[in-house]
Amino acid sequence: MNDDAEPSAVPSSADFARRVLEWYDRQGRHDLPWQCPATPYRVWISEIMLQQTRVETVRGYFDRFMQRFPDVATLAAADIDEVLGLWSGLGYYARARNLHHAARCIATDHGGEVPDDPHALTALPGIGRSTAGAILSLGHGRHHAILDGNVKRVLARHAGIEGWPVRAPVQRALWAVAEERTPAERTAAYNQAMMDLGAMVCLRRPICDACPVSTDCSARRAGRTADIPAPKPKREIPRRETIALVIQRSEDGAILLERRPPSGIWGGLWSLPEFADDAELNAWLATRLGEVEPEPLAPVEHAFTHFRLCIHPRRVLLAGIIDGAREGADTGWYLPEDAPGGLPAPIRRLADRLGGSPHTADLPGINPQVG
Ligand code: SF4
Repeated sequence: MNDDAEPSAVPSSADFARRVLEWYDRQGRHDLPWQCPATPYRVWISEIMLQQTRVETVRGYFDRFMQRFPDVATLAAADIDEVLGLWSGLGYYARARNLHHAARCIATDHGGEVPDDPHALTALPGIGRSTAGAILSLGHGRHHAILDGNVKRVLARHAGIEGWPVRAPVQRALWAVAEERTPAERTAAYNQAMMDLGAMVCLRRPICDACPVSTDCSARRAGRTADIPAPKPKREIPRRETIALVIQRSEDGAILLERRPPSGIWGGLWSLPEFADDAELNAWLATRLGEVEPEPLAPVEHAFTHFRLCIHPRRVLLAGIIDGAREGADTGWYLPEDAPGGLPAPIRRLADRLGGSPHTADLPGINPQVG
């Protein structure tokens, strides 16, 4: 298989289109509501409804929409609440708002006729390059390629185009193949055929034995139909770092805890004092304890849903008792097991690691105060 986004095993475009069209004539869908008749307006509405929605779901919505808004003028004149009401249940309501907005633009700027120019179409709200291609080819009878989700799957597999189809280089490779293979004759039928092939045969689990272009399909020959097109990559989980201060008393092993702010992670829980970096920690220690050298401990990792937290503990062992309060914060001395409400899980793990009675250091000049 070739490198990322590079096609391989490109057959003759004419031969590819011929086989796809022959299959379409025998087994494609010819009686969809928006095909009878396939006006630019009806194609446009259907294409928007079909985004992220199955054909069977769209049928009823399309019929009701057309009864109420049979043309651009009635849609443009309608109240948005009525448009949204007819959209209710289809989801992705931005599509309906864009349709309504675009209808008003078409009424104002294009004399109520759905444009037959790709630039004018893609300038309208909610119309991208593939939707414009569908309107131009299926509605206006022009020679334009399409590249919706179904077509991407067929072309990525057949031409062996690796990578996640949303990535720009992969998109470019797919568009290049789509444009090369879209025939000038019977463009509308070919585009509908490609959509049907993706929806009926080249499924997520493809039925390759029923496919008219299986003999030279790259993914099938390589046994990689499960890998192409590549799925959306898993998101990199961001990582945050923090310094946590463990001040531990020698007399009883209690540690200084602070109540966290009510919002944010561990909102309202008691935990160790935290610092953005060692400079901030050392400045705090200098004011409170004078010259002390905190001991770095092994980091503690914790995974949240949206990020990983790496806690770098620094420990100070005290021979006496200190006034450890940070101004304006709730603070107190607690044995880890006695922390009010319990400690956050990674702080609990850290406390367990500290063990029982600590080795102590003498730190003179500390004010006694027990929280
Ligand atoms: S042979 Fe299989 S994987 Fe290849 S295009 Fe046809 S259905 Fe899709």
